Amino acid sequence: MTDFSATRARFALPADLIYLDGNSLGPVPRAATERVSGAISDEWGRMLIGGWVQAGWMDQPMRLGDRIGRLIGAEPGQVVLGDTLSIKLYQALAAALAQTSRRVVLTDTGNFPSDLYMAEGLMRTLDAGHELRRVAPEEVEVALTDEVGVLMLTECDYRTGRLHDMAALTARAHEVGALTIWDLAHSAGALPINLAGARADYAVGCTYKYLNGGPGAPAFIYVSPRHSDRALPALSGWLGHDAPFDFSPDYVAGQGVSRMRVGTPPVLQMAALDAALDIWEGVDMQALRRRSIELSELFIQTVEAGTDLELASPRDASRRGSHVSFRHDSGYAVMQALIARGVVGDFRAPDILRFGITPLFLDEGDIRKAADTLIDILATGAWDRPEFHRRKAVT
Ligand SMILES: *Cc1c(COP(=O)(O)O)cnc(C)c1O
Repeated sequence: MTDFSATRARFALPADLIYLDGNSLGPVPRAATERVSGAISDEWGRMLIGGWVQAGWMDQPMRLGDRIGRLIGAEPGQVVLGDTLSIKLYQALAAALAQTSRRVVLTDTGNFPSDLYMAEGLMRTLDAGHELRRVAPEEVEVALTDEVGVLMLTECDYRTGRLHDMAALTARAHEVGALTIWDLAHSAGALPINLAGARADYAVGCTYKYLNGGPGAPAFIYVSPRHSDRALPALSGWLGHDAPFDFSPDYVAGQGVSRMRVGTPPVLQMAALDAALDIWEGVDMQALRRRSIELSELFIQTVEAGTDLELASPRDASRRGSHVSFRHDSGYAVMQALIARGVVGDFRAPDILRFGITPLFLDEGDIRKAADTLIDILATGAWDRPEFHRRKAVT
């Protein structure tokens, strides 16, 4: 059994704040401060360049990749960390496209813009007549024809929380001869994932959302062992080389997923992530999922009983990830008013109020209070003030 009051105690959360944005940037683990400061003073400070070997900095991307692998159904040696999610997605897509002669990449219209931008940028560079085909999320299955080379999807929709059926769509993709790339940005640390069981080909995700690795924490990439020894590393940096310290002028791709490393890893960021992953160590993902659903249902029921907000997320909990969204025409101002009252969610254009339901540090009391505050703001019209309508650079 996972004790969620114990996991909550391991985060440093500001008092008087209910944080429903752990799906966008997780809070700071208490142990992270000391871990990062230790990495600075004991490792960087004392060992200097020796830290790469003595402190194991060079192995961090694979070592921490294994710790994340446990949470997403991958075996040791199949996940590596580095760079950002946009870059890891680019690498996965470049590798997948190199394995097929087909020119269509199928995705859905709800996918995160950066994933679409990166795909289009790659296709422009390849200049080989690729097409990024976008269909509505419900149409993906019928759009999987034998023209499709790569199915590139984000499992959990960043706006609505709608989940794709990873196992079913992967099986269908394989039937038509397509490879799959799953973006787990809103899934990793949010729900149980079984990449091996689903026979996913590639997967990518970030560590600063549900995994709580901190702003700028590196992304991860998974490559199925069916492909990892031939996958083409489009960003063939020296640390993905089989023997970086041979300084050979010729590139030889490293073993397995390590070839997806590019350059120098962000050591201090990874120290923070390592502390965050300690918290995940004792967490049973099935228990996390049950708790996430309980809290999400409580939030939806309370908000719906007190407002006429339209639920933007699937009503069926099994079709929803770990965030809940409602629509409001003045969603931005409503969210600003909520934040001013100490309830932090976020706003996604054009009209989505988004609330991350993160059992590691939220309980029923938080959920009730957040819902009651939202109800009050809408009932009193407290959101309709000029200062709440003024847009900030980050929403
Ligand atoms: C958060 C998120 C990103 C962000 O990419 P970065 O390169 O880490 O900034 C990309 N794709 C999806 C689906 C996301 O949810």
